[in-house]
Amino acid sequence: MNAAEQTAYRTRLASDLAQQVDSIAGLLAATGKVAPDVSPDMRQARMDAMAQQVNMRDQLEKFNLRRRKVEAALARVDAGAYGLCCECRATIGGERLDSDPAEVFCQECADEREAP
Ligand SMILES: [Zn+2]
Repeated sequence: MNAAEQTAYRTRLASDLAQQVDSIAGLLAATGKVAPDVSPDMRQARMDAMAQQVNMRDQLEKFNLRRRKVEAALARVDAGAYGLCCECRATIGGERLDSDPAEVFCQECADEREAP
């Protein structure tokens, strides 16, 4: 991978990271804004609020997972190990990195991990 390609992936990763951080911040801000419920049907309202909280927690987890994956990829750029499979150190194909610049494994290792 040449320097220009690496810079392009780095830029994509940095903007991905900013997006995750934004989403997390937005979600946390929204969580703080859940208004106290004044509906007469308190039980249903409480159940809705609980379901909403679970949903937000799931989303938060998803954003945090992605954030960590992207941060790890950026760390690999800095360490000069970007684009190398974390399992076998083979070069990760450009197609895989194009579809996800934070990709961790080469096709072969990914297939092995997904195999039952
Ligand atoms: Zn591999």
